Amino acid sequence: MTTPYLTTSDAPPRWSVRRQLASASRWLTTPLMPDDYLGLLNPLWSAEELRGRVEAVHPETADAATLVIRPSRNWVPHRPGQWVRIGIDIEGIRHWRAYSLSSAPQRPDGCVTITVKAVPDGLVSRHLVRRTAPGTIVGLTRPEGEFVLPEPPPPRLLFLTAGSGITPVMAMLHSLLTGGAAGGEGAGGGGAVSLQSEKHREMPDVVLVHSAPMPEDVIFGEELRGLAARLPNLRLYERHTRAGGRLKPTDLPALCPDWADRAAWACGPTEMLDEVAAHWAGRSDRLHVEHFRPAVSAAGGEGGRVRFTKSGREVDADGGTPLLTVGEDAGVLMPSGCRVGICFGCVGRLSSGQVCDLRTGQVHGEEGDLVQTCVSAAAGPVDIEL
Ligand SMILES: Cc1cc2nc3c(=O)[nH]c(=O)nc-3n(C[C@H](O)[C@H](O)[C@H](O)COP(=O)(O)OP(=O)(O)OC[C@H]3O[C@@H](n4cnc5c(N)ncnc54)[C@H](O)[C@@H]3O)c2cc1C
Repeated sequence: MTTPYLTTSDAPPRWSVRRQLASASRWLTTPLMPDDYLGLLNPLWSAEELRGRVEAVHPETADAATLVIRPSRNWVPHRPGQWVRIGIDIEGIRHWRAYSLSSAPQRPDGCVTITVKAVPDGLVSRHLVRRTAPGTIVGLTRPEGEFVLPEPPPPRLLFLTAGSGITPVMAMLHSLLTGGAAGGEGAGGGGAVSLQSEKHREMPDVVLVHSAPMPEDVIFGEELRGLAARLPNLRLYERHTRAGGRLKPTDLPALCPDWADRAAWACGPTEMLDEVAAHWAGRSDRLHVEHFRPAVSAAGGEGGRVRFTKSGREVDADGGTPLLTVGEDAGVLMPSGCRVGICFGCVGRLSSGQVCDLRTGQVHGEEGDLVQTCVSAAAGPVDIEL
């Protein structure tokens, strides 16, 4: 059976009224779009652009805080472990960085949380932790990333985390506690999970090995210790590196004898993740890794003169510094995103020259190619349309 065409005159009256209203509102708001006015009335009403309003900032440790963010109405719930890009205006310039969501999906209050550790000299992290007040409007992107739990989750899990690497795992723990990897009703997150909500199904057997310099540096320390004290299937091992030194994967069998049989998720500093990946060689299908910084393994390019042709700036760059940093340091308004080569938010079009991919050492590039500036360094003179 063929579906007859629906002409405007055949359309149900509700459709044509809606269309007429939309066209009238476009006419009335020209030269702006209706969405621009909605955004002025309430930044979270914009149907086009995702935004969030910071509702609260909760200190976690001396240098980390959880930001509770109410996303705009076009938000799509995340999978625990995923991350978003946050855009924040600092001295009139919007800066974007990636942050894992530390809350489980679908909190009853409709908010999400990110938990940020202020890194020394860190532009955005220090601003978010120390200078962001409730009411601040931030840019948001849709949740991304494959560092997630399968549904249903495996019966035995191992989490290896250090520092702020606990954040995506916290979202997973909240979610496991409250009803499943895909999220569940009554999910908490970014705050203590109530005992009433720990019910929907048996929580898998979880071992969490977390490292931080001292007990007071453990992000979510109190909550994690409380959960481990009352949940028999959550075992928590804290490694306080200032006293005990850095945890090595060779320490694992003593802490978790069946580590090799568990599905594992690891998030922490690059050195730790490199060692973990080497330790899991031959069984890497059981290991999931999330990097917060680019996994730079190559020595870099030869460096050279870089011309940012749109902004009219040029500067000498060494072969190990990403073009993104080179441009930012030269005062170019660079597009940016995750800064680790996964989101393609930082690309620029090459006019001439070649770049070195800092992850692989591969030198590449032809006129017109789009290059990821966050993981590409100059390999000779470079002209880029930025
Ligand atoms: C997928 C993903 C998820 C992330 N999730 C989180 C999260 O949940 N919580 C969180 O706190 N951060 C997270 N990050 C890191 C975050 O995106 C920023 O890199 C970090 O906050 C530093 O940004 P900044 O502007 O303060 O530092 P910048 O001003 O960009 O850099 C300042 C200095 O700090 C160094 N630096 C940059 N990033 C780090 C880092 N992560 N650790 C140590 N030194 C660094 C730089 O090399 C530079 O020397 C995540 C990153 C990715 C890619």
